[in-house]
Amino acid sequence: MSMFYEYEAKKLFKDNSIPTPRIKLYDGLDSVKEFAKEIDKDSMMAKAQTLAGGRGKAGLIKKVTVDEAEKYIKSITGKEHKGSTVNKVLLEEPVTIKQEYYLTVMMDNAQGSYMVLASPMGGVDIEEVADKHPNKIFKKYFGVNEEPLPYKFMQLGKQMGFERKTLLRFTHVLSQMIKMSKDKDLTLVEINPLILTEDDKIIAADAKVVVDGNAYYRHPDIAKLQSQRDQYTDLEYEAKQAGISYVQLDGEVGIIACGAGLSMATCDLLEFYGSSPANFLDVGGGADEKKVDKALEILSSQDIKGIFVNVFGGITRGDQVAEGIISATKRLDIEIPMVIRLIGTNDQQGIALLEENGYNAYGEMEPAIKKIVTLTKGGN
Ligand code: GDP
Ligand code: MN
Repeated sequence: MSMFYEYEAKKLFKDNSIPTPRIKLYDGLDSVKEFAKEIDKDSMMAKAQTLAGGRGKAGLIKKVTVDEAEKYIKSITGKEHKGSTVNKVLLEEPVTIKQEYYLTVMMDNAQGSYMVLASPMGGVDIEEVADKHPNKIFKKYFGVNEEPLPYKFMQLGKQMGFERKTLLRFTHVLSQMIKMSKDKDLTLVEINPLILTEDDKIIAADAKVVVDGNAYYRHPDIAKLQSQRDQYTDLEYEAKQAGISYVQLDGEVGIIACGAGLSMATCDLLEFYGSSPANFLDVGGGADEKKVDKALEILSSQDIKGIFVNVFGGITRGDQVAEGIISATKRLDIEIPMVIRLIGTNDQQGIALLEENGYNAYGEMEPAIKKIVTLTKGGN
């Protein structure tokens, strides 16, 4: 799975004739002056580019004049926001807002269709709308093989409160969102807010796009958009979102460990016995079952020869961790060699449970490491 920055997503929108405000990436004071001239306005929106949303609430979006821009942009550059650092700031033409809407197209694999979610109460968290005004969210399934012609979304547009001119503009945007999803194998296209301006234009003021990672190579243009990335790999970003410290390395054995110290020790011991770590991964103390599950998911999408889980159970019981590991490996279809080292509350029950299910489990670290090294080298 791959996410995009707003400015990248907006470029895709523009290429697919979804109206967006004019934008320019900030690059010094000259870029601010040039942009002001280009849009012929004294002020503009300055928007931190982060992969996570909620920037407005976090003070990372502000309307500024040419004179104020530099000071504000410097103040937000380098800030952390939900796991990513602000490196780039987007300058955007401000719009006059009559109403904010929410509009999302999501791939629903189970149904073999797209799910459209729309609400006339946009701008805010959609979860909040779902809680307080569930009758203000409209849902529509749309078959993946169906032609997304605009008229097919008229009913939905009317529910949203659009009429005549704005109805046509809305249905155009939605049909283009679905067309774009099909063309580029996108799993999510979200516009929040979609804005109705004072002069009745419909404009995507924010843009979020997620692409199916497996489909990546088929779309060099999308890959290129993202190659301008710095910072994290996609997996590292995904891990950070889940509260897991993860650094991708290029060795053979994927590691899951509790605590930074234990993770380091595991890496060292692997090297000592002639193998190499494919990553550094710390789920934190206490072996939270959900995090172990997520960690296994992350590792399962890395190209590795084996997995070593090193759990020092504190609060979480060893048998629960064991159950979690068993269900996660089944769910994820993990078939590469795996060794688990488990110690802490109920560790004996945990080890017994793992062994009954055909896993290699140990209480001691050394024999466990030796085992995974042997297994990944083709031994048993
Ligand atoms: P987010 O907070 O990360 O989702 O960023 P958004 O791009 O959605 O911006 C947050 C909010 O800024 C929007 O919901 C608008 O209510 C508000 N806003 C006010 N004026 C403007 C404007 O001229 N352009 C944009 N894009 N947003 C504006
Ligand atoms: Mn938004």
